[in-house]
Amino acid sequence: MIILDLEWNRGYDKKPLNEILQIGAVRVETLGGPIVDVFDACIRPTVHKKFDPGAKKLPSLGAFKASRTRFPAAAEAFRAWCAGDRAFGGWGGGDVEALNENCKYWGLPAFEAEAFFDLQRAFAHAVGADRQIALWRAVEYCGVPDVFDYHNAVNDAMYTAVLGAWLTQDDLDWRPEPAPSRGRRAALKLSQLAFPRQPRQKVGPCQTPEEVLDGRAGRTSSCPLCGQREGIARWHFAVPEEGMPQRFYAVFTCPEHGRFLCRMTLARRPDGLWMGRRTVLQAAPEPLREYAQALDGGVHVCRGKGRRRRRGPRRPAGSER
Ligand SMILES: [Zn+2]
Repeated sequence: MIILDLEWNRGYDKKPLNEILQIGAVRVETLGGPIVDVFDACIRPTVHKKFDPGAKKLPSLGAFKASRTRFPAAAEAFRAWCAGDRAFGGWGGGDVEALNENCKYWGLPAFEAEAFFDLQRAFAHAVGADRQIALWRAVEYCGVPDVFDYHNAVNDAMYTAVLGAWLTQDDLDWRPEPAPSRGRRAALKLSQLAFPRQPRQKVGPCQTPEEVLDGRAGRTSSCPLCGQREGIARWHFAVPEEGMPQRFYAVFTCPEHGRFLCRMTLARRPDGLWMGRRTVLQAAPEPLREYAQALDGGVHVCRGKGRRRRRGPRRPAGSER
């Protein structure tokens, strides 16, 4: 596997190219294994007249400016060095694309990656982080001595290769779930106050699932801190492959203590009646993940018995979205 890192300059002009200033790479026979070969090419910048703020700070900028190597020669030397190896890895995902963008600009054939391993994404999974981790931070986390400058492509490729030893196949295979939208993130904001584990409240038995969700017992919940009863406006549920959804999620608000997540689990008894079990959940990752999934599924809007009924046939749970 080839661990690749690039330094580039976007410039300020209208030429839409991240001009590569350095190709750095190391070869490993297995991920986390010893580095068996090193490639380094400093490239003379010729496309953009000015350097963007990131490029200005590169520790090796002087070496790039002084280099006599232009991109085509560097790319061909790198291709020869790769010697047909088509498995690439890097810290972050875009290096092969950036390399090929430059190849295209110079009329060179593209590098064909058979596999690309984003070790930054895999590392986030390995350490249970919910965001991408900067290379220097990962190096610090793993206690790797950071004796070489960062933002030098060879050094960064080397650090990345060393961090490969912390990763498993599982980490490499992991793909993050898409980030929730702003509205979703707001919907997920729950009270951070600690409260004791809440009992499960029985709701029912009722003739239909809707009655469990809509009945006074079903569509209210108590604040786990002060016991104040609050209404539930709607239940969200992940749409199952077949049959009725079993788990419904809702958020209710105590004016004093904030927003709380609760879950109703529905079950049908042998006599055909429906029972619900409702409980207030801690804002822990697993229930939050299920709630987020339910927000992408269906919604049952609660209707109290005392309120004016809508005209038309009563809709079954889940028909409104
Ligand atoms: Zn309260």
